[in-house]
Amino acid sequence: MSAGQQPVADRYITVIGLEVHAQLLTKSKMFCSCNAGYANQQPNTTVCPVCLGLPGALPVINRRAIEFTVMTGIALHCEIADTTRFDRKNYFYPDLMKNYQISQYDMPLCRRGWLDVDVSGQTRRIGITRVHLEEDTARLTHRSEGGRPYSLVDVNRAGTPLMEIVSEPDIRTPEEARQYLIKLRSILQFLGVSTGSMEDGSFRCDANISLMPIGAERFGAKVEIKNMNSFRSVFRALDHEVERQTKALDSGERIVQETRGWDDDRGTTVSQRTKEYAHDYRYFPEPDLPPLQLTREWVDEIRTRLPELQDAARERFVGTLGLSRYDAEVLSASRAMVAYFDAALAAHPGNAKGIANWITNDLYAALNATGIGIDECRLAPGGLAELVRLIDAGTISTTIAKTVFEEAFRTGRSPVEIVRERGLVQVSDAAAIGAVVDQVLAAHANVVQDYLGGKTQALGFLVGQVMRRMKGKANPGIVNRLLTERIGQPRA
Ligand code: ADP
Ligand code: ZN
Ligand code: MG
Repeated sequence: MSAGQQPVADRYITVIGLEVHAQLLTKSKMFCSCNAGYANQQPNTTVCPVCLGLPGALPVINRRAIEFTVMTGIALHCEIADTTRFDRKNYFYPDLMKNYQISQYDMPLCRRGWLDVDVSGQTRRIGITRVHLEEDTARLTHRSEGGRPYSLVDVNRAGTPLMEIVSEPDIRTPEEARQYLIKLRSILQFLGVSTGSMEDGSFRCDANISLMPIGAERFGAKVEIKNMNSFRSVFRALDHEVERQTKALDSGERIVQETRGWDDDRGTTVSQRTKEYAHDYRYFPEPDLPPLQLTREWVDEIRTRLPELQDAARERFVGTLGLSRYDAEVLSASRAMVAYFDAALAAHPGNAKGIANWITNDLYAALNATGIGIDECRLAPGGLAELVRLIDAGTISTTIAKTVFEEAFRTGRSPVEIVRERGLVQVSDAAAIGAVVDQVLAAHANVVQDYLGGKTQALGFLVGQVMRRMKGKANPGIVNRLLTERIGQPRA
């Protein structure tokens, strides 16, 4: 908490509402069949008359984008509209090919939902005002040559589907705002509707913030902050703005409604323009698209196949599978992680705890060390399950399992094959182990005397010697038993 926050608590209430834009992972654009994945394309190649805004071209609604938005609305406990409509938002800017953006105004797809956010052990319910669909704009790159500034336009991004999620002004601290964004991104990622990456601009956040004196009846004028490209910068920008507005109000200034840009290097917000109002955009119904009717059957069908979200997965791992909170946290970190664990568990349902341990310890460490994501991991979930089954069946010791794991992780080969090929099967034959135990006892008679004299750690040395002679393949339980049987009790 910054120095500026302390005095706020007893004089002002902080009011924050967030507007998030998320790019949807559809194959084609919002209103045409152009490829929506523009990331690795040459500029101005994934375009057509519709997204270039040529006169006479007609838009067609992307059904998948509607479905993704409905999925999001359901996950955010929203009411899903029976009838929805697109509107034209009119403004003039070089990134807008048609001089209007097709968006939604008074009949959005989803309304009145909520999202629970946990902040320092407390659950706070944040209202969701609406979730609607619109099209993205072209991308401008500003350059300068010999002091002459110019801008480049890349239309590839124009017309890609953008989902906007607007929160109620229910957020009370910068940390709550950060947690809201983390939770919202997780939901979009688990639904598979967006990558949720702020760094590459597929998840963008504008933050609205105002302060009001405690006891006041109405919210103060809000400032909208733009240009943050990480969760951390959203937090910092809001924290800074709390401080700035507190100082201003304390010195009797009036806060004007305006848009400010976050300057990450200087850690400050800078005034950009005073706020435009909805009527400035001259919204009107998009005449080229009829209102869209959503049948209840379709919405219910989407509801029934909504994938499990992070919170539900975490609770299942603790509640149904009996895993620890820590394991459940790691295993529910991403949709890919949950899928990996569930697939491994399906292949060896008997030992959830064992599989969880291998994933949260060895696999997690190996992925981190190599910088490989779980979804690119060569060792398939079935392979990991095989490894745990080999241990559970007593075929290999846990020591040998580490060696097998390393090779399987590196090559993606089946643990069963590795064990067979390298002859790593654990020896549990008491006669074979007994013969080696006798050799070790004869070779280290002095250590045996130490043990009998009360130096109990000497047993570990003897176990180690047997293991070494048997190349780690002896069943450690049997080694221990035979050693203690043959040496006898230490003198008390
Ligand atoms: P606008 O018409 O400027 O877009 P909206 O009423 O649509 O304003 O709200 C936009 C966002 O600003 C929403 O997330 C909302 O919760 C938030 N918001 C509205 N009023 C305030 C306020 N006084 N202080 C902080 N946030 C606010
Ligand atoms: Zn197009
Ligand atoms: Mg608005």
